[in-house]
Amino acid sequence: MSNTSKLISDVHARRDRFTALEPLENKYLAEYIWMGGGQLDYRSKTRVIDGNTPAEPDHLPEWNFDGSSTGQAEGKDSEVLIKPRAVFRDPFRCGRNVLVLCDCYKPDGQPLPGNTRAIAADLLGRKSELKPWFGFEQEYVLLDPATNWPYGWPNQAFLGPQGPYYCGVGAGSAIGRDVADAHLAACLYAGIQCTGLNLEVLPSQLEFQVCAEGIAAADQMHAARYILLRIGEEFGVRAGFDPKPLKDWNGSGLHTNYSTVATRAEGGYQVILEYIAKLGKRHFDHIAVYGEGNDRRLSGLHETAPIDKFSFGVANRGASIRIPRSTEKANRGYLEDRRPAANGDPYIISSMIFRTTCLE
Ligand code: MG
Repeated sequence: MSNTSKLISDVHARRDRFTALEPLENKYLAEYIWMGGGQLDYRSKTRVIDGNTPAEPDHLPEWNFDGSSTGQAEGKDSEVLIKPRAVFRDPFRCGRNVLVLCDCYKPDGQPLPGNTRAIAADLLGRKSELKPWFGFEQEYVLLDPATNWPYGWPNQAFLGPQGPYYCGVGAGSAIGRDVADAHLAACLYAGIQCTGLNLEVLPSQLEFQVCAEGIAAADQMHAARYILLRIGEEFGVRAGFDPKPLKDWNGSGLHTNYSTVATRAEGGYQVILEYIAKLGKRHFDHIAVYGEGNDRRLSGLHETAPIDKFSFGVANRGASIRIPRSTEKANRGYLEDRRPAANGDPYIISSMIFRTTCLE
């Protein structure tokens, strides 16, 4: 164990002694989470609340914060309202405590311009009987916060070429497994529907997956990212979501698997082909909202399709849309949109796919 990690674990041991103390009275801590004015700008603060922990967000109080400190309001009228939208068990404080995912509103009750959840909730609620499922595959790269260089790499130098790292095993090939394991355990404790994790093609690049129905999928993805950033505090690393952190190496995506009752039913393969035809017609509208800097990633190389050309294919990882072999065989199932970048907004991506395929 290095001196730094020894120091961190000593500090955590001291902190844990105190956070393990249960309050005498009937109180719990709610960590309110919202998106600030920057890109992937997760913020949170703590509220002590009397009573029993509620299971539903509607039973938690609305709150506010100083929007002039997050780039979301002017100093003279700085209050931004936050409304609880999803509640998770808190894997850091444990016990009765919760994480509360919120979205942001102006004092007059209108959603803040950056509130993409309000738009997604509207679109995904329009034909909820279609039960859209979204399976997000979140790739990220662990970074040393002091240098922004990939965690575990030699100082400002490159490791050996791509090859042994994807699902790699053993010291030197597998970097960050302890972080990914801790993150998965924390997400499952919180109640997030994670389906797995793997080490990725770039050393110190990792992936986890979340699959859920409707707006819950994007809510859980945002909560899972928040938990990942918090886990990073414990390990002294930062998860980076840039779509192409290093030239000539695989980038990071947010591949989005998608199905509805119609594609999952007998003969759903035909419906999938109809959905793909619609997605092809709106290719550039989707690309425009699939993440900043995605043009650096969608080059046509490194398991991507070129950004300016829509394509699809069975089992084709170099296409915009992949149809899994199992879906073709069963004549029903799901499609995978491989275009979204790792820094894309799950609210926008899921509601855009649903709008194009089912609401037009
Ligand atoms: Mg992957």
